[in-house]
Amino acid sequence: MQFLTVENTTQIIGQPYKGRMLIDGELCEAHSGASAERRSPAHDVVVGIYPDAAQGDAERAVDAARAAFDEGTWPNMSGRERAEVLLKVAEGISARVEEMALIECLETGKPLSQARGEVSGCVDLWKYAASLARTLHGESYNTLGESHLGVVLRQPVGVVSMITPWNFPIWILSQKLPFALAAGCTAVIKPSELTNGTTLMLGEILVEAGLPKGVVNIVTGLGPAVGQPLVGHPKVDMVSFTGSTRVGRLIAAEAGAALKKVSLELGGKNPQIIFPDCDWDAAVDAVVFGVYFNAGECCNSGSRILVHKDIAERFSEAVIERARQVPVGDPLHPDVKVGAIISEMQLGGIQAAIEEARKAGATISLGGERHETERGLYLQPTIVTGVTPEMTIAREEVFGPVLSVLTFESVDEAIALANDTCYGLSAAVWSKDIDVCLKAARKIDAGTVWVNTFLDGFAELPFGGFRDSGLGRELGHHAVEDYTEQKTVQLHIGERQNWWLPK
Ligand code: NDP
Repeated sequence: MQFLTVENTTQIIGQPYKGRMLIDGELCEAHSGASAERRSPAHDVVVGIYPDAAQGDAERAVDAARAAFDEGTWPNMSGRERAEVLLKVAEGISARVEEMALIECLETGKPLSQARGEVSGCVDLWKYAASLARTLHGESYNTLGESHLGVVLRQPVGVVSMITPWNFPIWILSQKLPFALAAGCTAVIKPSELTNGTTLMLGEILVEAGLPKGVVNIVTGLGPAVGQPLVGHPKVDMVSFTGSTRVGRLIAAEAGAALKKVSLELGGKNPQIIFPDCDWDAAVDAVVFGVYFNAGECCNSGSRILVHKDIAERFSEAVIERARQVPVGDPLHPDVKVGAIISEMQLGGIQAAIEEARKAGATISLGGERHETERGLYLQPTIVTGVTPEMTIAREEVFGPVLSVLTFESVDEAIALANDTCYGLSAAVWSKDIDVCLKAARKIDAGTVWVNTFLDGFAELPFGGFRDSGLGRELGHHAVEDYTEQKTVQLHIGERQNWWLPK
Protein backbone atom coordinates (compact mmCIF):
# COMPACT_ATOMS: atom_id res chain seq x y z
CA MET A 1 0.00 0.00 0.00
CA GLN A 2 1.33 3.41 -0.87
CA PHE A 3 1.85 6.05 1.81
CA LEU A 4 2.45 9.62 0.67
CA THR A 5 4.52 12.00 2.76
CA VAL A 6 5.17 15.73 2.62
CA GLU A 7 8.52 17.39 3.35
CA ASN A 8 8.73 20.55 5.41
CA THR A 9 5.19 20.60 6.76
CA THR A 10 6.23 23.17 9.40
CA GLN A 11 6.05 25.96 6.87
CA ILE A 12 2.62 24.95 5.57
CA ILE A 13 1.22 24.44 9.06
CA GLY A 14 2.51 27.77 10.36
CA GLN A 15 1.65 29.10 13.81
CA PRO A 16 -1.20 27.58 15.85
CA TYR A 17 -4.55 29.29 15.38
CA LYS A 18 -5.59 31.05 18.60
CA GLY A 19 -9.36 31.01 18.50
CA ARG A 20 -11.65 32.88 20.83
CA MET A 21 -15.20 32.10 21.87
CA LEU A 22 -18.09 34.38 20.97
CA ILE A 23 -20.36 35.47 23.80
CA ASP A 24 -22.77 38.39 23.58
CA GLY A 25 -21.01 39.82 20.55
CA GLU A 26 -17.52 39.70 22.12
CA LEU A 27 -14.70 37.42 21.04
CA CYS A 28 -13.45 36.22 24.42
CA GLU A 29 -11.42 33.78 26.51
CA ALA A 30 -12.83 31.44 29.15
CA HIS A 31 -13.69 33.26 32.39
CA SER A 32 -11.03 31.19 34.19
CA GLY A 33 -8.44 32.02 31.53
CA ALA A 34 -7.86 28.28 30.96
CA SER A 35 -7.00 27.08 27.48
CA ALA A 36 -6.43 23.77 25.72
CA GLU A 37 -4.24 22.81 22.77
CA ARG A 38 -5.17 20.73 19.75
CA ARG A 39 -2.41 18.71 18.12
CA SER A 40 -2.72 17.63 14.51
CA PRO A 41 -3.39 13.87 14.42
CA ALA A 42 -1.26 13.68 11.25
CA HIS A 43 1.75 15.72 12.36
CA ASP A 44 1.58 15.67 16.16
CA VAL A 45 2.19 19.40 16.49
CA VAL A 46 0.04 22.05 18.14
CA VAL A 47 -2.25 23.60 15.53
CA GLY A 48 -4.88 25.27 17.68
CA ILE A 49 -5.16 26.90 21.11
CA TYR A 50 -8.67 27.40 22.46
CA PRO A 51 -10.49 28.55 25.58
CA ASP A 52 -11.22 25.65 27.91
CA ALA A 53 -14.53 26.91 29.19
CA ALA A 54 -16.64 25.81 32.14
CA GLN A 55 -20.32 25.74 33.03
CA GLY A 56 -20.34 29.45 33.96
CA ASP A 57 -19.20 30.39 30.44
CA ALA A 58 -21.92 28.19 28.92
CA GLU A 59 -24.50 29.90 31.13
CA ARG A 60 -23.31 33.36 30.09
CA ALA A 61 -23.70 32.26 26.49
CA VAL A 62 -27.24 31.01 27.09
CA ASP A 63 -28.15 34.26 28.88
CA ALA A 64 -26.86 36.24 25.90
CA ALA A 65 -28.82 34.11 23.41
CA ARG A 66 -31.98 34.42 25.54
CA ALA A 67 -31.67 38.20 25.80
CA ALA A 68 -31.00 38.48 22.05
CA PHE A 69 -34.14 36.48 21.38
CA ASP A 70 -36.43 38.13 23.94
CA GLU A 71 -35.24 41.72 23.64
CA GLY A 72 -33.16 41.89 20.47
CA THR A 73 -34.02 42.76 16.89
CA TRP A 74 -33.17 39.47 15.16
CA PRO A 75 -36.44 37.51 15.60
CA ASN A 76 -38.48 40.51 14.42
CA MET A 77 -36.41 41.45 11.38
CA SER A 78 -37.85 40.80 7.96
CA GLY A 79 -36.78 37.69 6.10
CA ARG A 80 -35.03 39.95 3.61
CA GLU A 81 -32.90 41.55 6.30
CA ARG A 82 -31.97 38.20 7.81
CA ALA A 83 -31.18 36.84 4.36
CA GLU A 84 -28.81 39.77 3.73
CA VAL A 85 -26.80 38.86 6.83
CA LEU A 86 -26.72 35.16 5.89
CA LEU A 87 -25.46 36.07 2.42
CA LYS A 88 -22.70 38.19 3.96
CA VAL A 89 -21.70 35.20 6.06
CA ALA A 90 -21.61 33.09 2.88
CA GLU A 91 -19.28 35.70 1.34
CA GLY A 92 -17.15 35.70 4.51
CA ILE A 93 -16.72 31.92 4.37
CA SER A 94 -15.95 32.12 0.67
CA ALA A 95 -13.18 34.65 1.35
CA ARG A 96 -11.58 32.38 3.98
CA VAL A 97 -11.90 28.97 2.30
CA GLU A 98 -8.13 28.34 2.27
CA GLU A 99 -7.59 29.33 5.89
CA MET A 100 -10.60 27.38 7.14
CA ALA A 101 -9.77 24.34 5.03
CA LEU A 102 -6.23 24.25 6.42
CA ILE A 103 -7.32 24.23 10.07
CA GLU A 104 -10.10 21.71 9.27
CA CYS A 105 -7.50 19.48 7.62
CA LEU A 106 -4.99 19.85 10.47
CA GLU A 107 -7.48 19.21 13.25
CA THR A 108 -9.40 16.34 11.68
CA GLY A 109 -6.59 14.71 9.69
CA LYS A 110 -8.70 14.73 6.51
CA PRO A 111 -7.08 15.56 3.14
CA LEU A 112 -6.73 19.29 2.51
CA SER A 113 -8.39 18.91 -0.89
CA GLN A 114 -11.43 17.39 0.76
CA ALA A 115 -11.49 20.04 3.51
CA ARG A 116 -11.53 22.68 0.76
CA GLY A 117 -14.56 21.01 -0.79
CA GLU A 118 -16.28 20.87 2.57
CA VAL A 119 -15.74 24.54 3.41
CA SER A 120 -16.73 25.78 -0.04
CA GLY A 121 -19.79 23.49 0.08
CA CYS A 122 -20.88 25.33 3.23
CA VAL A 123 -21.16 28.55 1.24
CA ASP A 124 -24.03 26.97 -0.68
CA LEU A 125 -25.79 25.91 2.54
CA TRP A 126 -25.71 29.48 3.85
CA LYS A 127 -27.01 30.79 0.52
CA TYR A 128 -29.79 28.21 0.43
CA ALA A 129 -30.81 29.08 4.00
CA ALA A 130 -30.85 32.75 2.99
CA SER A 131 -33.36 31.92 0.25
CA LEU A 132 -35.54 30.11 2.80
CA ALA A 133 -35.45 33.10 5.15
CA ARG A 134 -37.46 34.96 2.51
CA THR A 135 -39.87 32.17 1.62
CA LEU A 136 -40.75 30.87 5.09
CA HIS A 137 -44.46 31.28 5.54
CA GLY A 138 -47.43 29.87 7.37
CA GLU A 139 -50.85 28.90 6.09
CA SER A 140 -54.25 30.45 5.79
CA TYR A 141 -57.64 28.69 5.87
CA ASN A 142 -60.38 30.49 4.05
CA THR A 143 -62.51 27.35 4.03
CA LEU A 144 -63.87 27.45 7.56
CA GLY A 145 -67.18 29.10 6.76
CA GLU A 146 -68.12 32.76 6.30
CA SER A 147 -67.57 33.72 9.95
CA HIS A 148 -64.08 32.29 10.27
CA LEU A 149 -60.61 32.81 8.95
CA GLY A 150 -57.73 30.70 10.19
CA VAL A 151 -54.10 31.80 9.99
CA VAL A 152 -51.23 29.54 10.97
CA LEU A 153 -48.11 31.52 11.82
CA ARG A 154 -44.55 30.21 11.89
CA GLN A 155 -42.62 31.75 14.77
CA PRO A 156 -38.98 31.09 15.66
CA VAL A 157 -38.73 28.45 18.36
CA GLY A 158 -36.33 30.57 20.44
CA VAL A 159 -32.85 29.72 21.76
CA VAL A 160 -31.32 26.66 20.10
CA SER A 161 -28.33 24.77 21.55
CA MET A 162 -26.19 23.15 18.87
CA ILE A 163 -23.70 20.46 19.84
CA THR A 164 -21.50 19.22 17.02
CA PRO A 165 -18.91 16.47 16.44
CA TRP A 166 -15.41 16.35 14.99
CA ASN A 167 -15.84 14.58 11.66
CA PHE A 168 -17.26 17.42 9.51
CA PRO A 169 -17.17 20.32 11.96
CA ILE A 170 -18.05 23.27 9.75
CA TRP A 171 -20.32 21.32 7.39
CA ILE A 172 -22.44 19.87 10.19
CA LEU A 173 -22.73 23.27 11.85
CA SER A 174 -23.78 24.75 8.50
CA GLN A 175 -26.56 22.16 8.26
CA LYS A 176 -28.00 23.67 11.42
CA LEU A 177 -27.04 27.29 12.12
CA PRO A 178 -28.07 29.20 8.97
CA PHE A 179 -31.46 27.47 8.97
CA ALA A 180 -32.09 28.35 12.62
CA LEU A 181 -30.98 31.93 11.93
CA ALA A 182 -33.22 32.11 8.86
CA ALA A 183 -36.17 31.25 11.10
CA GLY A 184 -35.23 34.05 13.54
CA CYS A 185 -33.77 31.90 16.32
CA THR A 186 -30.72 32.64 18.41
CA ALA A 187 -28.11 29.98 19.18
CA VAL A 188 -25.41 28.67 21.48
CA ILE A 189 -22.90 26.36 19.83
CA LYS A 190 -20.52 23.84 21.33
CA PRO A 191 -18.13 22.26 18.82
CA SER A 192 -16.12 19.11 19.55
CA GLU A 193 -13.09 19.88 21.69
CA LEU A 194 -10.98 18.20 18.98
CA THR A 195 -12.04 20.52 16.17
CA ASN A 196 -12.90 24.02 17.42
CA GLY A 197 -11.01 25.86 14.67
CA THR A 198 -13.51 26.40 11.87
CA THR A 199 -16.40 27.05 14.23
CA LEU A 200 -14.45 29.84 15.95
CA MET A 201 -13.41 31.27 12.57
CA LEU A 202 -17.09 31.29 11.68
CA GLY A 203 -17.68 33.29 14.89
CA GLU A 204 -15.30 35.96 13.54
CA ILE A 205 -17.14 35.94 10.21
CA LEU A 206 -20.51 36.34 11.96
CA VAL A 207 -19.25 39.43 13.80
CA GLU A 208 -17.89 40.90 10.56
CA ALA A 209 -21.20 40.20 8.81
CA GLY A 210 -22.97 42.43 11.33
CA LEU A 211 -24.98 39.78 13.15
CA PRO A 212 -26.48 41.51 16.20
CA LYS A 213 -24.76 40.69 19.50
CA GLY A 214 -25.91 37.59 21.34
CA VAL A 215 -27.65 36.05 18.31
CA VAL A 216 -24.90 33.43 17.97
CA ASN A 217 -22.69 32.42 20.88
CA ILE A 218 -19.90 29.84 20.76
CA VAL A 219 -18.39 28.09 23.77
CA THR A 220 -15.47 25.67 23.65
CA GLY A 221 -14.57 22.97 26.13
CA LEU A 222 -15.51 19.44 27.06
CA GLY A 223 -18.96 17.93 26.50
CA PRO A 224 -19.85 17.29 30.13
CA ALA A 225 -18.53 20.75 31.18
CA VAL A 226 -20.03 23.02 28.52
CA GLY A 227 -22.25 20.75 26.38
CA GLN A 228 -24.41 19.28 29.07
CA PRO A 229 -25.41 22.65 30.61
CA LEU A 230 -26.80 23.64 27.20
CA VAL A 231 -29.25 20.74 27.08
CA GLY A 232 -31.54 20.99 30.11
CA HIS A 233 -31.11 24.73 30.66
CA PRO A 234 -34.50 26.39 31.27
CA LYS A 235 -33.60 29.28 28.95
CA VAL A 236 -32.99 26.92 26.00
CA ASP A 237 -35.95 25.97 23.79
CA MET A 238 -34.46 23.40 21.44
CA VAL A 239 -31.39 21.19 21.21
CA SER A 240 -29.87 20.14 17.91
CA PHE A 241 -27.19 17.47 18.26
CA THR A 242 -24.99 15.54 15.86
CA GLY A 243 -22.70 12.82 17.19
CA SER A 244 -22.73 9.37 18.64
CA THR A 245 -25.94 7.45 19.32
CA ARG A 246 -24.75 6.97 22.93
CA VAL A 247 -24.51 10.70 23.68
CA GLY A 248 -27.57 11.40 21.50
CA ARG A 249 -29.62 9.14 23.75
CA LEU A 250 -28.42 10.99 26.88
CA ILE A 251 -29.26 14.32 25.29
CA ALA A 252 -32.70 13.17 24.15
CA ALA A 253 -33.47 11.90 27.67
CA GLU A 254 -32.43 15.16 29.28
CA ALA A 255 -34.17 17.31 26.69
CA GLY A 256 -37.24 15.06 26.97
CA ALA A 257 -37.36 15.43 30.75
CA ALA A 258 -37.36 19.20 30.29
CA LEU A 259 -39.87 18.85 27.38
CA LYS A 260 -37.63 20.61 24.89
CA LYS A 261 -37.71 20.15 21.17
CA VAL A 262 -34.78 17.98 20.07
CA SER A 263 -33.24 17.05 16.76
CA LEU A 264 -30.62 14.29 16.52
CA GLU A 265 -28.30 13.19 13.72
CA LEU A 266 -26.57 10.03 14.95
CA GLY A 267 -24.74 6.99 13.65
CA GLY A 268 -25.24 4.60 10.75
CA LYS A 269 -24.24 1.18 9.45
CA ASN A 270 -25.06 1.92 5.88
CA PRO A 271 -25.28 -0.86 3.29
CA GLN A 272 -24.52 -0.69 -0.39
CA ILE A 273 -26.37 -3.54 -2.13
CA ILE A 274 -24.65 -4.88 -5.22
CA PHE A 275 -26.68 -6.88 -7.77
CA PRO A 276 -25.06 -8.87 -10.60
CA ASP A 277 -26.39 -6.48 -13.28
CA CYS A 278 -24.77 -3.41 -11.71
CA ASP A 279 -22.49 -1.02 -13.59
CA TRP A 280 -19.42 -2.88 -12.34
CA ASP A 281 -16.80 -0.10 -12.46
CA ALA A 282 -19.11 2.52 -11.00
CA ALA A 283 -20.12 0.19 -8.16
CA VAL A 284 -16.52 -0.77 -7.34
CA ASP A 285 -15.51 2.88 -7.27
CA ALA A 286 -18.52 3.89 -5.15
CA VAL A 287 -17.83 1.13 -2.63
CA VAL A 288 -14.21 2.25 -2.23
CA PHE A 289 -15.22 5.92 -2.08
CA GLY A 290 -18.15 5.16 0.24
CA VAL A 291 -16.04 3.55 2.93
CA TYR A 292 -12.74 5.45 2.69
CA PHE A 293 -14.10 8.97 2.23
CA ASN A 294 -13.16 10.92 5.38
CA ALA A 295 -11.29 7.75 6.48
CA GLY A 296 -14.69 6.20 7.18
CA GLU A 297 -15.24 8.72 10.00
CA CYS A 298 -18.58 9.52 8.54
CA CYS A 299 -22.10 8.80 9.79
CA ASN A 300 -23.01 8.11 6.16
CA SER A 301 -20.05 5.78 5.60
CA GLY A 302 -20.91 2.84 3.34
CA SER A 303 -19.36 0.56 5.92
CA ARG A 304 -20.92 -2.68 4.70
CA ILE A 305 -21.62 -4.07 1.29
CA LEU A 306 -24.17 -6.75 0.58
CA VAL A 307 -23.12 -8.56 -2.59
CA HIS A 308 -25.11 -11.12 -4.57
CA LYS A 309 -23.55 -14.58 -4.09
CA ASP A 310 -23.10 -15.06 -7.86
CA ILE A 311 -20.60 -12.19 -8.05
CA ALA A 312 -19.42 -11.99 -4.45
CA GLU A 313 -15.95 -13.40 -4.93
CA ARG A 314 -15.13 -11.52 -8.12
CA PHE A 315 -16.62 -8.25 -6.85
CA SER A 316 -14.78 -8.47 -3.51
CA GLU A 317 -11.50 -9.09 -5.34
CA ALA A 318 -12.10 -6.03 -7.53
CA VAL A 319 -12.83 -3.88 -4.48
CA ILE A 320 -9.76 -5.18 -2.64
CA GLU A 321 -7.59 -4.48 -5.68
CA ARG A 322 -8.92 -0.91 -6.00
CA ALA A 323 -8.71 -0.27 -2.24
CA ARG A 324 -5.09 -1.43 -2.16
CA GLN A 325 -4.22 1.47 -4.48
CA VAL A 326 -6.01 4.23 -2.55
CA PRO A 327 -3.39 6.85 -1.66
CA VAL A 328 -3.07 7.12 2.11
CA GLY A 329 -0.81 9.62 3.83
CA ASP A 330 -0.17 13.14 4.98
CA PRO A 331 -3.43 15.05 4.49
CA LEU A 332 -1.45 18.02 3.17
CA HIS A 333 -0.36 15.96 0.15
CA PRO A 334 -2.52 16.92 -2.87
CA ASP A 335 -2.96 13.29 -4.01
CA VAL A 336 -3.92 11.79 -0.64
CA LYS A 337 -7.43 10.38 -0.37
CA VAL A 338 -7.25 8.90 3.15
CA GLY A 339 -5.58 10.96 5.86
CA ALA A 340 -5.08 10.47 9.59
CA ILE A 341 -7.50 9.14 12.19
CA ILE A 342 -8.84 11.81 14.54
CA SER A 343 -7.36 10.55 17.83
CA GLU A 344 -5.41 7.76 19.48
CA MET A 345 -8.63 6.68 21.21
CA GLN A 346 -10.56 6.46 17.95
CA LEU A 347 -7.72 4.52 16.30
CA GLY A 348 -7.66 2.10 19.24
CA GLY A 349 -11.43 1.59 18.95
CA ILE A 350 -11.17 0.83 15.23
CA GLN A 351 -8.35 -1.66 15.77
CA ALA A 352 -10.37 -3.32 18.55
CA ALA A 353 -13.35 -3.71 16.18
CA ILE A 354 -11.09 -5.33 13.55
CA GLU A 355 -9.62 -7.68 16.15
CA GLU A 356 -13.08 -8.63 17.36
CA ALA A 357 -14.14 -9.45 13.79
CA ARG A 358 -11.07 -11.64 13.37
CA LYS A 359 -11.87 -13.49 16.58
CA ALA A 360 -15.49 -13.94 15.47
CA GLY A 361 -14.26 -15.84 12.38
CA ALA A 362 -14.15 -13.13 9.70
CA THR A 363 -11.14 -12.73 7.39
CA ILE A 364 -9.10 -9.52 7.19
CA SER A 365 -8.62 -9.55 3.43
CA LEU A 366 -6.92 -6.17 3.25
CA GLY A 367 -5.10 -3.93 5.72
CA GLY A 368 -6.13 -4.14 9.34
CA GLU A 369 -2.90 -2.64 10.66
CA ARG A 370 -1.70 0.74 11.71
CA HIS A 371 0.69 2.35 9.19
CA GLU A 372 4.18 2.34 10.63
CA THR A 373 5.06 6.01 10.31
CA GLU A 374 7.36 8.31 12.24
CA ARG A 375 4.42 10.39 13.40
CA GLY A 376 0.68 10.54 12.98
CA LEU A 377 -2.29 8.22 13.43
CA TYR A 378 -2.91 6.22 10.26
CA LEU A 379 -4.73 2.99 9.57
CA GLN A 380 -4.48 0.92 6.41
CA PRO A 381 -7.68 0.77 4.35
CA THR A 382 -9.24 -2.42 5.63
CA ILE A 383 -11.62 -4.99 4.14
CA VAL A 384 -13.20 -7.72 6.22
CA THR A 385 -14.74 -10.61 4.28
CA GLY A 386 -16.67 -13.67 5.42
CA VAL A 387 -18.77 -11.43 7.66
CA THR A 388 -22.04 -12.93 8.86
CA PRO A 389 -25.06 -10.92 10.00
CA GLU A 390 -24.73 -11.69 13.72
CA MET A 391 -21.12 -10.43 13.96
CA THR A 392 -20.62 -7.10 15.69
CA ILE A 393 -18.71 -5.76 12.67
CA ALA A 394 -21.87 -6.29 10.57
CA ARG A 395 -24.08 -4.36 12.97
CA GLU A 396 -22.10 -1.71 14.87
CA GLU A 397 -20.62 1.52 13.60
CA VAL A 398 -16.79 1.31 13.41
CA PHE A 399 -16.24 4.92 12.30
CA GLY A 400 -13.00 4.12 10.50
CA PRO A 401 -11.76 2.92 7.09
CA VAL A 402 -13.14 -0.60 7.50
CA LEU A 403 -15.45 -2.32 5.03
CA SER A 404 -17.47 -5.44 5.89
CA VAL A 405 -18.54 -7.75 3.08
CA LEU A 406 -21.72 -9.84 3.40
CA THR A 407 -23.56 -11.84 0.76
CA PHE A 408 -27.20 -12.51 -0.24
CA GLU A 409 -29.15 -14.60 -2.73
CA SER A 410 -32.44 -12.76 -3.32
CA VAL A 411 -33.80 -9.21 -3.33
CA ASP A 412 -35.86 -9.95 -0.23
CA GLU A 413 -32.83 -11.30 1.60
CA ALA A 414 -30.82 -8.21 0.65
CA ILE A 415 -33.54 -5.92 1.98
CA ALA A 416 -33.83 -7.94 5.20
CA LEU A 417 -30.05 -7.77 5.69
CA ALA A 418 -30.03 -4.04 4.96
CA ASN A 419 -32.62 -3.53 7.70
CA ASP A 420 -30.92 -5.87 10.15
CA THR A 421 -29.26 -3.18 12.33
CA CYS A 422 -30.50 -0.69 14.87
CA TYR A 423 -29.59 2.14 12.47
CA GLY A 424 -31.36 3.60 9.43
CA LEU A 425 -29.37 6.49 8.04
CA SER A 426 -28.63 5.67 4.41
CA ALA A 427 -28.24 2.88 1.86
CA ALA A 428 -27.45 2.38 -1.82
CA VAL A 429 -28.75 -0.03 -4.44
CA TRP A 430 -26.69 -0.95 -7.50
CA SER A 431 -28.68 -2.53 -10.35
CA LYS A 432 -29.89 -1.73 -13.86
CA ASP A 433 -33.30 -3.20 -13.02
CA ILE A 434 -35.57 -0.33 -12.04
CA ASP A 435 -38.05 -2.67 -10.36
CA VAL A 436 -35.35 -4.04 -8.07
CA CYS A 437 -34.08 -0.53 -7.29
CA LEU A 438 -37.52 0.85 -6.50
CA LYS A 439 -38.53 -2.13 -4.39
CA ALA A 440 -35.34 -1.82 -2.34
CA ALA A 441 -35.65 1.97 -2.08
CA ARG A 442 -39.17 1.61 -0.72
CA LYS A 443 -38.47 -1.21 1.71
CA ILE A 444 -35.17 -0.15 3.23
CA ASP A 445 -35.61 1.76 6.48
CA ALA A 446 -33.24 4.63 5.87
CA GLY A 447 -33.46 8.40 5.59
CA THR A 448 -31.65 8.36 2.22
CA VAL A 449 -31.49 5.63 -0.41
CA TRP A 450 -29.13 6.24 -3.32
CA VAL A 451 -29.76 4.39 -6.57
CA ASN A 452 -26.64 3.76 -8.65
CA THR A 453 -24.69 6.44 -6.81
CA PHE A 454 -23.42 7.11 -3.31
CA LEU A 455 -22.97 10.08 -0.96
CA ASP A 456 -24.27 12.71 -3.38
CA GLY A 457 -26.00 15.46 -1.43
CA PHE A 458 -27.91 18.65 -2.11
CA ALA A 459 -29.09 21.46 0.14
CA GLU A 460 -32.59 20.92 -1.28
CA LEU A 461 -32.81 17.29 -0.09
CA PRO A 462 -33.65 16.37 3.51
CA PHE A 463 -31.04 14.44 5.46
CA GLY A 464 -31.50 12.35 8.60
CA GLY A 465 -32.18 8.88 9.87
CA PHE A 466 -34.72 6.30 10.94
CA ARG A 467 -34.46 4.43 14.28
CA ASP A 468 -31.18 4.85 16.22
CA SER A 469 -29.82 7.11 13.47
CA GLY A 470 -31.74 10.04 14.82
CA LEU A 471 -34.81 12.20 15.08
CA GLY A 472 -35.86 14.83 12.57
CA ARG A 473 -34.34 15.96 9.29
CA GLU A 474 -31.91 18.67 8.30
CA LEU A 475 -31.66 20.46 4.93
CA GLY A 476 -34.48 20.60 2.41
CA HIS A 477 -37.05 23.37 2.45
CA HIS A 478 -38.56 22.10 5.72
CA ALA A 479 -35.23 22.68 7.50
CA VAL A 480 -36.21 26.20 8.51
CA GLU A 481 -39.63 25.05 9.69
CA ASP A 482 -37.94 22.72 12.19
CA TYR A 483 -36.72 25.81 14.00
CA THR A 484 -40.23 27.25 14.30
CA GLU A 485 -43.31 26.83 16.41
CA GLN A 486 -46.71 26.94 14.74
CA LYS A 487 -49.26 29.33 16.12
CA THR A 488 -52.89 29.24 15.15
CA VAL A 489 -54.64 32.59 14.97
CA GLN A 490 -58.39 32.32 14.54
CA LEU A 491 -60.33 35.35 13.40
CA HIS A 492 -64.07 35.78 13.63
CA ILE A 493 -65.85 37.79 10.98
CA GLY A 494 -69.15 39.57 11.66
CA GLU A 495 -71.53 39.05 14.53
CA ARG A 496 -70.72 36.17 16.86
CA GLN A 497 -73.58 33.88 18.00
CA ASN A 498 -73.92 33.79 21.76
CA TRP A 499 -73.36 30.47 23.48
CA TRP A 500 -76.04 31.33 26.03
CA LEU A 501 -78.03 34.41 26.94
CA PRO A 502 -79.49 34.94 30.42
CA LYS A 503 -83.27 34.99 30.25
P1 NDP B 1 -19.77 12.25 20.91
O1 NDP B 1 -21.16 11.91 20.61
O2 NDP B 1 -19.18 11.81 22.19
O3 NDP B 1 -19.58 13.84 20.85
C1 NDP B 1 -20.30 14.72 20.00
C2 NDP B 1 -20.42 16.08 20.68
O4 NDP B 1 -21.14 15.94 21.91
C3 NDP B 1 -19.06 16.68 21.06
O5 NDP B 1 -19.13 18.07 20.91
C4 NDP B 1 -18.94 16.29 22.52
O6 NDP B 1 -18.05 17.09 23.24
C5 NDP B 1 -20.37 16.47 22.97
N1 NDP B 1 -20.69 15.76 24.20
C6 NDP B 1 -20.12 14.65 24.72
N2 NDP B 1 -20.73 14.29 25.87
C7 NDP B 1 -21.71 15.21 26.08
C8 NDP B 1 -22.69 15.38 27.09
N3 NDP B 1 -22.78 14.55 28.13
N4 NDP B 1 -23.55 16.42 26.98
C9 NDP B 1 -23.48 17.27 25.95
N5 NDP B 1 -22.57 17.16 24.97
C10 NDP B 1 -21.69 16.14 25.02
O7 NDP B 1 -18.89 11.77 19.75
P2 NDP B 1 -17.31 11.66 19.76
O8 NDP B 1 -16.86 12.89 19.11
O9 NDP B 1 -16.71 11.37 21.07
O10 NDP B 1 -17.14 10.35 18.90
C11 NDP B 1 -17.44 9.09 19.47
C12 NDP B 1 -18.14 8.20 18.49
O11 NDP B 1 -19.33 8.84 18.06
C13 NDP B 1 -17.40 7.96 17.20
O12 NDP B 1 -16.53 6.90 17.31
C14 NDP B 1 -18.52 7.68 16.25
O13 NDP B 1 -18.90 6.34 16.33
C15 NDP B 1 -19.63 8.53 16.74
N6 NDP B 1 -19.77 9.77 16.00
C16 NDP B 1 -20.80 9.89 15.15
C17 NDP B 1 -20.95 11.04 14.42
C18 NDP B 1 -22.05 11.22 13.45
O14 NDP B 1 -21.97 12.11 12.61
N7 NDP B 1 -23.09 10.46 13.51
C19 NDP B 1 -20.00 12.14 14.50
C20 NDP B 1 -18.94 11.92 15.45
C21 NDP B 1 -18.86 10.77 16.16
P3 NDP B 1 -16.47 16.76 23.35
O15 NDP B 1 -16.18 15.62 22.45
O16 NDP B 1 -15.83 18.02 22.95
O17 NDP B 1 -16.22 16.44 24.79
